[in-house]
Amino acid sequence: MNRDPVAFLKEDMTELRRSNLEWIIRYLEEGSKPHCIVNGKEVLMLNTNNYLGLATHPKVVQASIDATKKYGAGAGAVPVIAGSFDLTREFQEKFAKYKEVEASLLCQTGFAVNSGLIPMLVGKPDIVVSDELNHGSIIDGVRLSGAKRVIYKHRDISDLEKQLKEAEKGGARRICIITDGVFSMDGDMAPLDKIVDVAEDFGAMIFVDDCHGEGVLGDGKGIVAHFNLQGKVHVEGGSMSKGFGVFGGTVAGSKDLIEFCKNKSRTYLLSTAHPPGVVAANIASIEVVENEPQHVKAVWEHTNYFKKEVQSMGYDTGRSETPIIPLIIGDPGKAQELARILFEEENIYGTPIVFPMVARELSRIRVQMNALLTKDDLNTALSSIEKVGKKLDII
Ligand SMILES: *Cc1c(COP(=O)(O)O)cnc(C)c1O
Repeated sequence: MNRDPVAFLKEDMTELRRSNLEWIIRYLEEGSKPHCIVNGKEVLMLNTNNYLGLATHPKVVQASIDATKKYGAGAGAVPVIAGSFDLTREFQEKFAKYKEVEASLLCQTGFAVNSGLIPMLVGKPDIVVSDELNHGSIIDGVRLSGAKRVIYKHRDISDLEKQLKEAEKGGARRICIITDGVFSMDGDMAPLDKIVDVAEDFGAMIFVDDCHGEGVLGDGKGIVAHFNLQGKVHVEGGSMSKGFGVFGGTVAGSKDLIEFCKNKSRTYLLSTAHPPGVVAANIASIEVVENEPQHVKAVWEHTNYFKKEVQSMGYDTGRSETPIIPLIIGDPGKAQELARILFEEENIYGTPIVFPMVARELSRIRVQMNALLTKDDLNTALSSIEKVGKKLDII
């Protein structure tokens, strides 16, 4: 038959480009820090998850070098066969203590935690009650589980309660409430204290994905510590790749949970373990957060200052409560244009966020604070954001 079996590749990309939805990847030419050479020029980066600046922290980098010299570059196996090191055990013990839980597990990534563990926690006879703005990796995990998925309105406890009542009537074997801790596009927080209260009434399991809360909330310990809910959340998923600045997914909770995850999560069982240098850097990163509280303090000082200033210029920062600060523009073309001018003319790197990550009419630039920014950096960014915002009639 005379047909090109891969013609759709070009066709689909042409369509994406036409809709302004193509990702243009820019390449960093040095470490990820606020002043960084990107595509050949120095820019001020306002768009990384490396909130505390630990990706380039000397102690973290040194730990990675030392472990690489001692243990080599790769792990050589999946964690359950021969890919776990004494370093891995040290990390898991330290992280559990840090999170004030019985046990923890270093998994391949935050995405792998959701796609590997959720389908084992729930299945066909169960119901997952999920916040409407949950991360895509949660959505994928729930899809793989085959459980019935019910969506509740974003952070809406009365709607959650309503959905739980329905779920109870349906006679599900297990009910699981799943929420992001910090929502990545808006920077708002799950009302976890209220969720815990409601869950108890229905005997529901709680799974919180705290990838953006760790390193930032609760003095770095995350959203559970922020609300003083230690011991009340059944499954805490997280990532060492954001606030902690290194790499890897985490699960924290009871010993039973960790044993279950080790033996059942398919991504944990079937994907190679982290290189030892990464594990050692993760250990060092927790030590830095514990011993150097100035990083968490700085990111919050910058957050409060920057948010107040952009709001007084007239920008809409939505529901932001964390170092994720959206500048909500509305029109997708205008959001793209603001980001483009900021990058090309002002050397400020912020990411435009458009459909399908957010609703079309809520297109935005997402700004994220970093502990390594200085007051001068913030003022430079603010004056550019004000100038270009006025030029484009946004403010
Ligand atoms: C970033 C993120 C993930 C994925 O974590 P990785 O460690 O980067 O794979 C999962 N869930 C949420 C809510 C996230 O923000």
